[in-house]
Amino acid sequence: MKYTNLASLYDQLSATTKRLEKTHLLSEFLKGVPEADVPEITLLLQGRIFPAWDDRQIGVASKLVLKAISVASGYPTNKVEELWKKTGDLGETAEQLVGKKTQFTLVSHDLTVKKVFQNLRKLAEITGEGSVDTKVKLISELLTSAKKGETKYLVRAVLEDLRVGVGDGTMRDAIVWAFFSKDAGVTYDEHEKDIVVENREQYNAMVEAVQHAYNLTNDFAEVIRHSLSGNLKKLQALAFSETTPIKVMLYQKVQDIKEAFERVGKPCAFEFKYDGFRLGFHKSGNVLKLYTRRLEDVTKQFPDVAEAVKSHITGKSFVLEGEAVGYDPATKKYLPFQMISQRIKRKYDIDKIAKEFPVEVNVFDIISFEGKNMMSLPFRERRKKMESIVEEIPFVIRCSEMIITDKEKEAQAFYEKALRVGEEGVMAKNLDGIYKPGSRVGYGVKVKPVMETLDLVITGAEWGTGKRSGWLSSFVLACYDKDNDEFVEIGKVGTGIKELEESEGATFDELTKLLKPLIVEEKGREVIVKPKIVLEITFEEIQKSPTYSSGYALRFPRLKNIRDDKPAREASTLDQVEELFRGQRGRG
Ligand code: AMP
Repeated sequence: MKYTNLASLYDQLSATTKRLEKTHLLSEFLKGVPEADVPEITLLLQGRIFPAWDDRQIGVASKLVLKAISVASGYPTNKVEELWKKTGDLGETAEQLVGKKTQFTLVSHDLTVKKVFQNLRKLAEITGEGSVDTKVKLISELLTSAKKGETKYLVRAVLEDLRVGVGDGTMRDAIVWAFFSKDAGVTYDEHEKDIVVENREQYNAMVEAVQHAYNLTNDFAEVIRHSLSGNLKKLQALAFSETTPIKVMLYQKVQDIKEAFERVGKPCAFEFKYDGFRLGFHKSGNVLKLYTRRLEDVTKQFPDVAEAVKSHITGKSFVLEGEAVGYDPATKKYLPFQMISQRIKRKYDIDKIAKEFPVEVNVFDIISFEGKNMMSLPFRERRKKMESIVEEIPFVIRCSEMIITDKEKEAQAFYEKALRVGEEGVMAKNLDGIYKPGSRVGYGVKVKPVMETLDLVITGAEWGTGKRSGWLSSFVLACYDKDNDEFVEIGKVGTGIKELEESEGATFDELTKLLKPLIVEEKGREVIVKPKIVLEITFEEIQKSPTYSSGYALRFPRLKNIRDDKPAREASTLDQVEELFRGQRGRG
């Protein structure tokens, strides 16, 4: 497919904020995508060149793109910079400068999606000496072959900042409309920009089928390829593969034990909610993979966990899930997550750090065993199977601590015990609940102490002065607006961050190092960064505020943790903020 088709879809998508209209545009587009282009196009539609679980990035800074625009357009860099200051957007700047020039170029080859994709991937792979020049050359080549209307999106793709708003929900619905709309009785009313659904039940079942296929594969390209024929059976036959990471099941938060019982029923299981990080243990014959909640492959970083899983879980192939919890090797006391979080990203001295910061694996679910998918079995049966194959060795591997009860007193005592030993709280699980990857379905809930926290994404920061010069020191926080697939600001945080490295807690230096490669724009002391880093923030209260784009502000925000385990789109949502705000008023 020609890139210009994709660019004009981007144009149409950015011209509307209506989700249904976006879905319609996308579904019409998907109908025309040739099978051979599906993988690349699916990623590019989501503004990516690597899948969500792949940590690689293009990592090209704005300055470099600026140079490339200068090369491609023939304008000196200061001219490009001048216009950039005016438009505030490098894509727009390129469109105006390079677009102008290519109007007069007689021979220019049509850019294909494949070519663009290959060059973007190449950009991510170039390292070492001379890499800056090679990158500038690659980008400027793309820009000179671009037609009017393409340049803007090429630049934004290079900067990994596409902003066209295709979230997972929109993609899922567009697949249903594109390939199964006839069966589902869906028609789109162009005039009203709304859909008419003849058979709601059937439609919901289709949406559910597409969502399920996505949950199994975590790959929309795979889902689209299996949907092209319009045969739902083919999609449903999409098999589950042991070595593909799976989105974790999510749990809603409730206030207390009483509400937990109300939500999940009596009796139910209570487990410790460990303050560690989730790992999926995926074994297929001799291959063992460990995936985080962000679906990153961290097998290399945790040889101790891999060894424990291989030696103490019976079975040739399985997928299990658990929490790795750090403990102090001397006192055998559990440690908070931030003490061991550094192990997730560690690339060197792995054995040394594994000894310094050992983890205990607490297995809490089983998803498949010996090729049999166990997701639709009730929790009590999954738990039984899990217990039968895990050989428990204290401080190495064990099944999560659990009780089954219908008594509030007993559950309350268990909850207090969890807090006493330093865990976060408890999970309450419905004994008949099935496993639903990626969704908060109410088969389980979490109970944590009342102190509210929000997981917020850093979208900007400010360079510090005085003692803090050289560091980014104040961080703009945003929550996720799911409907529009964008991050909306809710406040700034500068407290709770350490100046010196201590045994616990994030430092300015650490945050600066994390954010520097993500800077897309600088104006004076202020910087705008790509929304990637998630912080757990405590606060006293949420207030209505015109200052921030979410319409809310936090009172006394304070950094608690860096949530290295959470992708930006799993940050707290605007809906959650609104709900918390309303809850607070009710209490007052
Ligand atoms: P949250 O991050 O607060 O949304 O809670 C969900 C996370 O709790 C999961 O991703 C797991 O990492 C973690 N967790 C800790 N203990 C358990 C448990 N016993 N069962 C399920 N999840 C658990």
